Amino acid sequence: MPEILDIARAQVLERGTGLDEAGVLAVLRLPDEHVPDALQLAHEVRMRWCGPEVEVEGIVSLKTGGCPEDCHFCSQSGLFTSPVRSVWLDIPSLVEAAKQTAATGATEFCIVAAVRGPDERLMKQMREGVAAIKAEVDIQVAASLGMLSQEQVDELVEMGVHRYNHNLETSRTYFPNVVTTHSWEERWDTLRMVRDSGMEVCCGGILGLGETVEQRAEFAAQLAELDPHEVPLNFLNPRPGTPLGDRPVVEGKDALRAIAAFRLAMPRTILRYAGGREITLGDLGTRDGLLGGINAVIVGNYLTTLGRPASADLELLDDLKMPVKALSATL
Ligand code: SF4
Repeated sequence: MPEILDIARAQVLERGTGLDEAGVLAVLRLPDEHVPDALQLAHEVRMRWCGPEVEVEGIVSLKTGGCPEDCHFCSQSGLFTSPVRSVWLDIPSLVEAAKQTAATGATEFCIVAAVRGPDERLMKQMREGVAAIKAEVDIQVAASLGMLSQEQVDELVEMGVHRYNHNLETSRTYFPNVVTTHSWEERWDTLRMVRDSGMEVCCGGILGLGETVEQRAEFAAQLAELDPHEVPLNFLNPRPGTPLGDRPVVEGKDALRAIAAFRLAMPRTILRYAGGREITLGDLGTRDGLLGGINAVIVGNYLTTLGRPASADLELLDDLKMPVKALSATL
């Protein structure tokens, strides 16, 4: 057994202390034949420190496309030729989407908008939308609206938004290669305010943007320092018309190494599969990930591309004897 896995067994599995950057890098460099061992250990860590439950989440886009920022992987940027137009969802459709999400057994409904940060119009939509959902649907509401001011953080808390998603996307040193219209530090500032407000922090990113394996390890360590409640892990799905449209997809084995490594860096976090997993991992990979440290899935639509149908994931969870996490009794 490679030494790093023995260290991880003693440190992460037994004591619940995540691997540091050097440890993550060693896992990311494991030879192919030891990837199953790393996944097995990551699975044991997840079962020990998080339990068998899987959090099922739905996501809806309140405002799609036409974003003024230039994140090179994103088809919702208005600066590229990718074919996503700016579209707003109305409140009745938002409530309907929340109902459909709740009907799958999901406990989380995340409202997303492709913006640099919310303006008054978006905050008004949120006020009305969250109130309408809370009046009609039994589900926790999360939001992802870009960078926030302190007043906006306070307002979201007041609305009853319990979790906020804002991804760092990639390591601090690689970020300027991927985004030039705002900085990694600006994203970090929003995350700090969200964490201090008492909202749960959801923060992850995308692998396969051209970062080195060292920068992947750096990113995992930076996420671990933030200590988010949830980490969505995406693999680049290269979108036509974006600057990264021609990048190769992450190899399945590298994706599985990353899943194991990120779990070993963050034993207690909700680690979620987000976009791109179908093309990187396929159906088999979904199972491998759930048996390798992943404990949350999105049902239904991703933001701009279609994911697997909800029933396929729910059947898989049933198959794996992993119960869907229930709404907490405190609601
Ligand atoms: S990732 Fe977010 S901020 Fe960046 S272009 Fe896409 S929608 Fe805009």
